[in-house]
Amino acid sequence: MEAILTAMIMMLAVGGLLGALLGIAGVLFYVKPDERVEKVLAMLPGYNCGACGYPGCAGLADALVEGKVTKVSACKPSSAQQRVDIANYLVETPGPDGKVLPVVPQ
Ligand code: SF4
Repeated sequence: MEAILTAMIMMLAVGGLLGALLGIAGVLFYVKPDERVEKVLAMLPGYNCGACGYPGCAGLADALVEGKVTKVSACKPSSAQQRVDIANYLVETPGPDGKVLPVVPQ
């Protein structure tokens, strides 16, 4: 009986310690997300068809905001107006580093 109690106390202590370490690491290593990704994602068609070469619209939104893709026309089903809106948004909205992206509609 004493062995089971000792094991339970050890498990609680280890679990509590690891939980506290994860909590501290979460605070120390928190990376603020770039708000532009959500905005661009909302402006894309949302079909998640993969025609852009990414598994879904979130992938292209990430790539546009990271500067890996500079033409919004990579999204094949997007309308001309959507492409212009996204390009205008990205050339006018600076990121966390204060820089804007050289994104074009076509
Ligand atoms: S091509 Fe456009 S609609 Fe299709 S997954 Fe890519 S961003 Fe989404």
